[in-house]
This record gives sequence, C-alpha cells and structure tokens, in this order.
Amino acid sequence: MKLIVLVIYVLCEFEGIVSSENDEIINSISSKSIYSPEIHAELFSPSLGLTWDHYLTLDEINNFIDHVGEKYSDFVTVHVAGYSDEGNPIKIVEVLSGNRSANKIWIDGGIHGREWVTPSAMLLILFQLVVRRESNSEAMRGVDFYVCPVINPDGFDYSRRFSKFWRKNRRVINNHCLGVDLNRNWIYQPEHSDVHEEKCRDIYPGPFPFSEPETQALKTFLEQNKNNMKAFLTFHTFGEMIMIPYGYKSALPEDYDDLERLANHIVQNITLHGGPQYKVVNTYDYSGFSVGGLDDYAKEVLGIKYTYTVELRDNGTYYFFLPEHLILPTSIDALVVAATVAEEVYRI
Ligand SMILES: [Zn+2]
Repeated sequence: MKLIVLVIYVLCEFEGIVSSENDEIINSISSKSIYSPEIHAELFSPSLGLTWDHYLTLDEINNFIDHVGEKYSDFVTVHVAGYSDEGNPIKIVEVLSGNRSANKIWIDGGIHGREWVTPSAMLLILFQLVVRRESNSEAMRGVDFYVCPVINPDGFDYSRRFSKFWRKNRRVINNHCLGVDLNRNWIYQPEHSDVHEEKCRDIYPGPFPFSEPETQALKTFLEQNKNNMKAFLTFHTFGEMIMIPYGYKSALPEDYDDLERLANHIVQNITLHGGPQYKVVNTYDYSGFSVGGLDDYAKEVLGIKYTYTVELRDNGTYYFFLPEHLILPTSIDALVVAATVAEEVYRI
C-alpha cells in the first residue's frame, strides 16, 4: 500500500499536479530527489568523508562537522559546548539564516550510545541544510538550526567499538558501576529519588540533575541560546514514534493540541516520502513515569513550544540492530521531521 501511495505521489509530482502546502518540502527533499543519481553521488562524495553504507565512527562524524564548519564558514559555526567525561568535544553546528530575529530549531542525536543511526541522521540533515542549501525551501533557509549530532560521544564510541548495547555515558560511579543515562539527568521529582539507588541500571539518572559534564555543558549552551527557539527535536531509536511531553508527569502541556496537530502532519509527510507509519504518543501514556528526560527539560524549563522525542526506525523487528541498508531511508525520515517542523516554525 505504501509503495502504491508513493508511486502515485511520485507520478503526480512528475505531472506537476500536486498542489498541497507540502509542495516546497517535497520538491526539495523527496525520496525521488535525494535518490537521484546526482544527489546520490554527492552524498557519497569522498570529499565529504560521508558514507551511508555503514555506521559512522566518532572520528568520521567529527571530521564531517569540521569540514562543513570550515568550508561554509560564512553561515556555519561549530561550537564546542564542553567536553565529555573522557574529554571528547561535544560539538554543536549552528546554521544561520542570516536573519537576526529568525526562529530557531534544536536537533540532536546520539544521547544513547547504542542508537547508531541517529548521528547518521543528524549528518544527513546537516548535509541538506548546508551542502544542498540552495535546493531547500524558504522555511528551511529562513530558520536558524542548532544540530548536535552526538550528545554522548563517550557512550557512542564505546558502543561502536566495544559493546553494542552500551547506552549511558562512561563516568565511573563506584567499584561496580559505570555510566549515567544522559536522558534521565535533566529534571526529575525528588520524591522518586529511590531510583538513584540503582546505580548499575541502564536508566541510572545520576546522583542529582546535571551531575554529568555532558548535560552540564548542554544546559549552559541551551540557556544561552534559547531565545526564539521554537522547536526541539531529540532523536532516538527505535519504535517509529513522535513522542509528546511530558514523561515525568501525567499532565499534558497546555498547548498539547498544537503539538499533536504538527506531529500528525509530520507522520503524514514521512509516509509521503516513502517511510513507515509513525505513531503519535504522549510519553507518560506510552512509557509510564520517566524522570529526567531532555524533552521535559526543553518543554518545561526552557519553554520551547514544539518539543518532541522522535523514535526512528524500526518497529522492533531489528531492535537496535537496524541493517545498514536502512541507514539512509531512516535518516530521510529524520530529515522530513526537521523540514516539516521548519515549515511551522518559520511561520510563527
Ligand atoms: Zn534512546
């Protein structure tokens, strides 16, 4: 069915008879155009140092970030927000629209080590924002982007090289346990502090909020750059879901209807671009009580309107072992999320 829809859609596009508000996004980043031989060659160009045939290493990711920072320095700045426990830089790529009062979108990946496709997805978004800038919609060019491809470089590198299932950072906690879940270290409720006792668990939130160098560095950066920030997209795997805050309480955000409407639009656009049918869920409803999430911090403390956690592919068939041939299609899902959100943010 999905294939039929895509084929019909592509034919319609070819005939020039699609006339929805999605036209601009679709024209610039459709599966059709991203897979055209010319773009495909560009994506795999040795000069970029990128590949979509295998999962990237931390060095490959940082090399690409530095490359775009140097080559496109007129509108791209690479910030080092701080350093991880093991001394790796936490890099944030700022892509400016040139309009000083532009709205901003934050995008991140790699907060959990084992979710390898998320940094690749972040680099595809950067590729589109920077290398293919001229082909982008007015909205994509009219919004300032902050892209942090790997929030947890130590955990990602460790997972990549030694232990696939590693999720947390790599800080030594005690003689037996190592690592804090960086997506549990933001805000949480003191009455649930009993979870602190479970220091070896994958979801150990740390001794107190912002106990980790990674979250501390990002907190400082976000506080300094939150003005005009209208969207906050934090990418994970897996589950194919657009998750709406909160996770630490059952109450919904006051503007939940707005967030749900845009999330439904995102889901629709992902399928239009050949992706699977993502679900829209409320985090608390779906996952139950979960403390210290970055999305809750962005929504509740920073007050950023369109805040989502996005769980990319797949739906559980491959678990955290997403096959390499799905790296690029999954990254395109993330690009569609960013492009759809840009259309909204550009106009508010
Ligand atoms: Zn995750």
